[in-house]
Amino acid sequence: MTPHILIVDDDLSIRDAMHEFIEISGYEASVASSAEEALDVLNGEVVEVVITDILLPGMDGLALTDRIKRDHDIDVIVMTGYSTEYSYEEAISKGASDFVFKPVRFEELLLRLKRVLNERRLNQERIQMLEKLKKLSITDGLTQLFNSRHFYSQLKGEIERFNRYGHTLSLLLLDIDNFKDFNDTYGHLEGDKILVRLGRIIKSCLRKMDTAYRYGGEEFTIILPGTHGEEARTVAERLRTAVATEDFTDGKDSDLKITISIGVTQYRQEEEISTFVQRADQAMYQSKQAGRNQVSCLFDNPAG
Ligand code: GH3
Ligand code: MG
Ligand code: MG
Repeated sequence: MTPHILIVDDDLSIRDAMHEFIEISGYEASVASSAEEALDVLNGEVVEVVITDILLPGMDGLALTDRIKRDHDIDVIVMTGYSTEYSYEEAISKGASDFVFKPVRFEELLLRLKRVLNERRLNQERIQMLEKLKKLSITDGLTQLFNSRHFYSQLKGEIERFNRYGHTLSLLLLDIDNFKDFNDTYGHLEGDKILVRLGRIIKSCLRKMDTAYRYGGEEFTIILPGTHGEEARTVAERLRTAVATEDFTDGKDSDLKITISIGVTQYRQEEEISTFVQRADQAMYQSKQAGRNQVSCLFDNPAG
């Protein structure tokens, strides 16, 4: 996309000459004759760089720079005459990216503008790269659910919220039934495909606040903030049914059924994170003991 430059100068002839030059140089340009007008333009248009005179009627160019840096992600180049008392340091301390003296030599301005745009692009790429890395570091590569590292950090945060505000908190732990047999029969690669599909089913069964994690090889956890055990049981039951009724072979093998065993538990005030997770695991184990494809709950039932 062509970068959009806003030129702010109260001198009509300078404004027009710069406007023309910036457009001839291949950029989109807008003009404003005061800082106030410039702020209006910025509220309505996407602008990458503002080139502003310092001496303006009303708000001056440094105050404008200050406002822009506070409210927008826009670079500012300030222009000033040699005779004024404004300094390079002042402009930079307000957040300006560069500084040019008037009368402005357009070739110099263009070089400075290109440098600012280039740094801007590099910075954006850096931010995107960091975001991508951050996402990678918390995502399980196979299922695209969150990974177990993220599970523990999120669970810790939810427990802190629980202890501070008294919100309820439930946890599901689920494990695929007889998955070793599946791998032995169909191969590990087919097993991986099951894990991917299961990840999608889990996601589709979650409510907005819930988050799902690949806890281990074929084990998954789901954190349900603000959720009582009984509600969590309902989510678990819905998930169990969704998996049990899914045709994982797309009609190729009518005998093949994937089922999961789920443990449900609710957080108890001040207990250790490991105690909480272990109880979910115990509940899941009860589901295995009871014949698999089950939901078992370990929480204090208000009804007794
Ligand atoms: P159970 O019903 O008791 O859970 O039986 P199971 O066979 O699922 O349990 P077990 O713990 O004995 O074996 C888990 C199996 O899960 C072993 C391994 O082959 C399989 N598994 C674990 N991680 C992966 C993975 O990333 N990909 C595939 N394809 N299989 C995995
Ligand atoms: Mg297992
Ligand atoms: Mg298993």
